[in-house]
Amino acid sequence: MTHDPYSVTPRKPLTDKQRLQLFIRHQGICCLCGLKIDGVKEMWDEHINPLWRDGDNEAENRAPAHAKCARLKTKQEAPERAKGRDVAEFHFGAKRAKTKPMPCGRRSRFKKKMNGEVVER
Ligand SMILES: [Zn+2]
Repeated sequence: MTHDPYSVTPRKPLTDKQRLQLFIRHQGICCLCGLKIDGVKEMWDEHINPLWRDGDNEAENRAPAHAKCARLKTKQEAPERAKGRDVAEFHFGAKRAKTKPMPCGRRSRFKKKMNGEVVER
């Protein structure tokens, strides 16, 4: 599977049951500031490895956090996120350049035989 840097895994909201399980598993501790989260209502499920950095929606990649902390984290990540996008674009561009076949190169539809004759593969 090729990774398209422009298609980020969409954020999948947890069901109430999943949220509760996550909350219990982490003993109601915010994964960002380490303090107790006051009730399930305040809880925000946070992606430990952000989706934009190849994280996924699996339970192992999620932890409860205060909505306030999650917002702060997103804000702090913004410059890094932008940098990541630049890098992704660079790689994407480099990849695209590579997919352009060289005349008679290995990726070309045609190949040059030893005697110089060009034949279709
Ligand atoms: Zn917190």
